[in-house]
Amino acid sequence: MSLYGQYDPQNIFALILRGEAPCYKIYEDADVLAFLDIFPQSRGHVLVIPKAAQARNILDVDPAVLGKMMSAAQRLTRILVDELQPDGVQIAQFNGAPAGQTVFHIHVHIIPRWNGEAPEAHGRGKADPQELEALQARLVERIDSQAE
Ligand code: AMP
Repeated sequence: MSLYGQYDPQNIFALILRGEAPCYKIYEDADVLAFLDIFPQSRGHVLVIPKAAQARNILDVDPAVLGKMMSAAQRLTRILVDELQPDGVQIAQFNGAPAGQTVFHIHVHIIPRWNGEAPEAHGRGKADPQELEALQARLVERIDSQAE
């Protein structure tokens, strides 16, 4: 499956949204869900996905849904920067397998970057679950404290 095709309701993000697969959730509202990438390219690699959309990529997503995903990504980027103090942040969104897309439910990557640290290859080595849990707890605490 690539740039064109039917939305597959069995893709891993659809399973996560339906609660049929686990995730390290850091944030959820009526429109979006955000969770840690389990094959992170860097510490604090977060994915933001729209909840209602059955959209595979930027070609078939409703612009209003895209806007909500991106504004959530901006809010969460600010929180990641506050908590992890990276030197830079990469925002990435891939469309179609030749562009690097592997999960066909539209999403945006937030990838903190540090001087002198090369990112891991896209979608490779699985993170240590204990590290992911610790990071999840830190980010949830910061998000909750900023919501108060
Ligand atoms: P993309 O290649 O842009 O489609 O991004 C998909 C991302 O989802 C990759 O960075 C994967 O590491 C990540 N990923 C795949 N399965 C899971 C999962 N179960 N939980 C969290 N992240 C995942």
